[in-house]
Amino acid sequence: MENYKVFVDTHCHLDDPQFAEDLNEVIERAKAIGVTRIINFGGDFQTSINAVNLTKYEGLFAGVGIHPEEIDDAINRFDYTTELAELAQKNKVVAIGEIGLDYHWEKDTKRRELQQKVFIEQLDIARQFNLPICVHDREAHGDTLKILKAEAKNLRGVLHCFSGSLEMAKEIWKLGWLIGVDGPLTFKNSAKLPDIVKATPADMLLIETDAPYLAPTPHRGKRNEPSYVVEVAKKIAEVRGINLEEVARITTQNAENLYNIVQGGR
Ligand SMILES: [Zn+2]
Repeated sequence: MENYKVFVDTHCHLDDPQFAEDLNEVIERAKAIGVTRIINFGGDFQTSINAVNLTKYEGLFAGVGIHPEEIDDAINRFDYTTELAELAQKNKVVAIGEIGLDYHWEKDTKRRELQQKVFIEQLDIARQFNLPICVHDREAHGDTLKILKAEAKNLRGVLHCFSGSLEMAKEIWKLGWLIGVDGPLTFKNSAKLPDIVKATPADMLLIETDAPYLAPTPHRGKRNEPSYVVEVAKKIAEVRGINLEEVARITTQNAENLYNIVQGGR
């Protein structure tokens, strides 16, 4: 199938209880609007298993990993890296994520160091299975960049829901990594994001929803869902001064390249 207005929602959480009642309709609505592939990410063991289970749906793929706010689920296990490695080898698992650093809620230095350790250990799992990485970085830009530079050599990935500066984005692109853009781009207070989206090299941009969170305008404040990724794409088209078909084409190609999810391939 050609990429004519075909979209990929490269980051969401359809295992969220908010989708329990109407998951089938949510997936059908996405397909109807052209969102042919969706990648669900876990943040601890249970949600990673949930993401893997969702791959029974055609066009759905999974990322598995331990989110920085969930590190206790890793360190309280006897050997979490072996357990995660097993999940990473499941069919239709296309990434390690979401992993990274979250300093918004965590102010304790020792705990932040523990986040860094778990992040780095999971980079090793990605390397072991040759998988790309989806990084969560909230108010930890300096340490995230430092770790990617020092510990992620020969790895590829995306900074999902990118919230850094243009200067940081440039460093990310230099490493060959992408940025993921979602609902906040459409918000009135999107601040520096439009300028970053405008400056992004065409092969470094991904679209995502992070559903059920961060619904884009005009759905802001409601439950988000993969079909709304088109609203993000529309805003990118406006900001970059190109048409929606072109946004669909480049972002779908980037998603296919990073996550190895060619249509009908798996
Ligand atoms: Zn997420």
